[in-house]
Amino acid sequence: MAELASASRPGDPRPGAEGPGPSGARQPKGILIVEDEAELVRALRINLRARQYEVRTAGTGREALAVAASHPPEAIILDLGLPDIDGIEVIIELRRWYHAPIIVLSGRTSPGDKIGALDVGADDYVTKPFAMAELLARLRAALRRDEGDASLSQPRPAVIGQWLVDLGAHQVRRAAADEAGEGETLRLTPTEWRIVEILLRRPGQLVGSAQLLTAVWGPGFQRRTNYLRFHMARLRHKLEDDPARPRHLLTEPGMGYRYQPLAGSGILRPVRLADPIRTGSDRQYE
Ligand code: CA
Repeated sequence: MAELASASRPGDPRPGAEGPGPSGARQPKGILIVEDEAELVRALRINLRARQYEVRTAGTGREALAVAASHPPEAIILDLGLPDIDGIEVIIELRRWYHAPIIVLSGRTSPGDKIGALDVGADDYVTKPFAMAELLARLRAALRRDEGDASLSQPRPAVIGQWLVDLGAHQVRRAAADEAGEGETLRLTPTEWRIVEILLRRPGQLVGSAQLLTAVWGPGFQRRTNYLRFHMARLRHKLEDDPARPRHLLTEPGMGYRYQPLAGSGILRPVRLADPIRTGSDRQYE
């Protein structure tokens, strides 16, 4: 199995289990702003720097991909309407390797746009015009979630249908144990375990077919999408209540697969806006 599930996260400032440096000072978190409106870039840069973030900027999608690769940030704030490639394409490209938060900042307000961005791997979506304080709160929330996710060596057991998939214990057992199902466990094959592990470690996130194939079978298998169709069908039959209409192990046609957690347990948790917010003004930024 390739080192996908346990690969270190790009932009991860935590080398191994090391704590803060000798001085106790914390590394500033790097944020990449992808936005083509100069005035907005300026406002974002000033506000983020004032809160001790290290800021890089990119005015086009291609530049964003290059900067993210050369200096992986802890989070990316991304406009969708860019002069060269669409922001959605940028997210898709980034998600091939980048696992830290991506927050979309866009004038597109339709539910379809939002869902589209979240489906390809954005963590949050802020519509313009926006209040700087709200964007900053969402950024903090995304960074906290990311830190929490990365610090857990094993994700909590995930519920799929009537089953509890426990990656730590390497066990699938009945979620709601009643007299009938008490202690019942379900066997997955090693291949099924590998697929489930990769998907469950990225709740709500699209995992591309090529990425999944490489991680499970190794290089050279990127095109064997029939392998995935076969094993995903088996997994759904074992785990989903209605394998024909899966609710958790989802196919994104032509792209890949996604583990959808129960509503409220995944990446779409609402931001707690009760967070202490220090804001100079209530100005809205367009
Ligand atoms: Ca724009």
